[in-house]
Amino acid sequence: MTGDLRDLYQEVIFDHYKRPRNCGALEDASHHAEGHNPLCGDHVTIYLKVDGDVVRDVRFEGAGCAIATASASLMTEALKGRKLADVEALFRGFHDMVTEAPGPAASHDLGKLEVLAGVREFPARVKCATLAWHTLKAALAKRQQPISTE
Ligand code: ZN
Repeated sequence: MTGDLRDLYQEVIFDHYKRPRNCGALEDASHHAEGHNPLCGDHVTIYLKVDGDVVRDVRFEGAGCAIATASASLMTEALKGRKLADVEALFRGFHDMVTEAPGPAASHDLGKLEVLAGVREFPARVKCATLAWHTLKAALAKRQQPISTE
């Protein structure tokens, strides 16, 4: 990754942290779940409105560090209008991207989510980046208990 690209990625992450997209409760959510990352103190609630096999709307609420907030914001943008099968593929692709060692192995087409690829160089931040995604999975599974990354 060149220095310029890294700067651009950091700019996008900072922008999503300062101005999170799709932030706030979703009144008519069909699914929701809470997640917590005790390692960093990040909390997030994910709300989804699923119609058939399509995610019609997705929002989040919570308090977290820049990575956790930007990741949740970017995730909501990526998921809107997606089929549930695509959501699963994105989850796997994102998870692989942030946990794989840096190298050419990562060949997922994750669009804008790729700005978070640099997280894999900071193992302590991986849980911040994946919190929203694990909470999303819990919401889709209709889990009642808040999830924890620990
Ligand atoms: Zn965090």
